[in-house]
Amino acid sequence: MRTYDIILKKRTGEGLSAEEIAFLVGGYCAGEIPDSQMAAFLMAVYFRSMTPEETSALTMAMVRSGQTLDLHDIPGVKVDKHSTGGVGDKTTLVLIPLLAAAGIPVVKMSGRSLGFTGGTLDKLESIPGFSTALTPERMIAQVKRIGAAIGGQTADLVPADKKIYALRDITATVDCIPLIAASVMSKKIAAGADAFVLDVKAGSGAFMKTVEDAMTLARVMVDIGKQVGKKTIAVITDMNQPLGCAIGNALEVREAIETLKGNGPEDLVELCTVLGDIALKLAGKSGDIQDLLPQGLAKLREIIEAQGGDPRVIDDYSLLPTAPVIRQVKSVKNGFVKSLDAHQIGLAAAEIGCLRGHAGAIPDLSAGIVLRKKIGDGVPMCEPLAEVHAASEALADQAAKMVLAAYEFGKRYPLHKELVHGVIE
Ligand code: URA
Repeated sequence: MRTYDIILKKRTGEGLSAEEIAFLVGGYCAGEIPDSQMAAFLMAVYFRSMTPEETSALTMAMVRSGQTLDLHDIPGVKVDKHSTGGVGDKTTLVLIPLLAAAGIPVVKMSGRSLGFTGGTLDKLESIPGFSTALTPERMIAQVKRIGAAIGGQTADLVPADKKIYALRDITATVDCIPLIAASVMSKKIAAGADAFVLDVKAGSGAFMKTVEDAMTLARVMVDIGKQVGKKTIAVITDMNQPLGCAIGNALEVREAIETLKGNGPEDLVELCTVLGDIALKLAGKSGDIQDLLPQGLAKLREIIEAQGGDPRVIDDYSLLPTAPVIRQVKSVKNGFVKSLDAHQIGLAAAEIGCLRGHAGAIPDLSAGIVLRKKIGDGVPMCEPLAEVHAASEALADQAAKMVLAAYEFGKRYPLHKELVHGVIE
């Protein structure tokens, strides 16, 4: 087998066998196939795409590149939840304690910020003392004891994805449906759960800009799940405006806690309910996730304690990092919010240091944006639209301009925008 022939076959649209794909992934991870050839292959996939069989073969070759978690020791149906990433998406912080409260064991391997979207690990690390550096053994022991653990992905879990993702990032091949599907599903499968609920975002603040593309990605991922015998359901949800009101690490933790206290923003509550009820169904449990809020809050306290964090943050938000500058962004028009560009808000969050950026710099855990008005809200002139929390006046000024530019106003109440665009199972 020659790498050149595999690239040529993909370039000319011929099908690849599972053996050829395994040869490529294995050779690349072993350092026998150079970046130049892998980059050419990825670009060929970008233009030629992959069949469902090829995508599954790529996924499984990536799974085999490293360690896989064996969760058989944990009783019950293990359900994993994944979001393809969005702005203000703190669903994991709310949902994992709720699922654990429902008796569904969850070993959750989360990520850091990516592009203009935040990451669950950074958010959790805004809780003083909270550790996300858990070994698989410690995660499994914690799940057996309290039902849930949230940690970072270990280095040996799908090393092929780390290497291939880094190459995709510099070769303009990130936004490619089969490559995204294989990247996400290989990590899910290697993390060992029995069933997956996938939240596939569509809109300006997501990788998939259109509902159509998000539906296609969802279908590809659900098919991969099926092929490897894992029950998988995907929900396509809107990411044209940020989810909830808070964007930024500590601010999002606070909003997640408020949601578990029953005071969450409408869209976040709706999304957690939809995803939670699907997880209950996948685990073969009856009931309504909304009824478990008090138990979910108690479970979050247990998770924080188990991972070395200070659980008093639940009752006293002043223990979370707070920014020295808080700048109001005021409306410059009378009318209704017609649109609120999630991508632009994500960029404003990056501007004030909420995210890691390409250099992997430590994010400012206290910085962020709180939206006071969202799509459909009436806005009298000079009323606050949002608040920017920042480390300095200069950063706050810059981000405030970007936040204002993210709003578009209209004279009439806009047509209602759906949060859930569809479910694929
Ligand atoms: N998230 C992932 O894990 N992988 C991708 O390729 C894109 C988003």
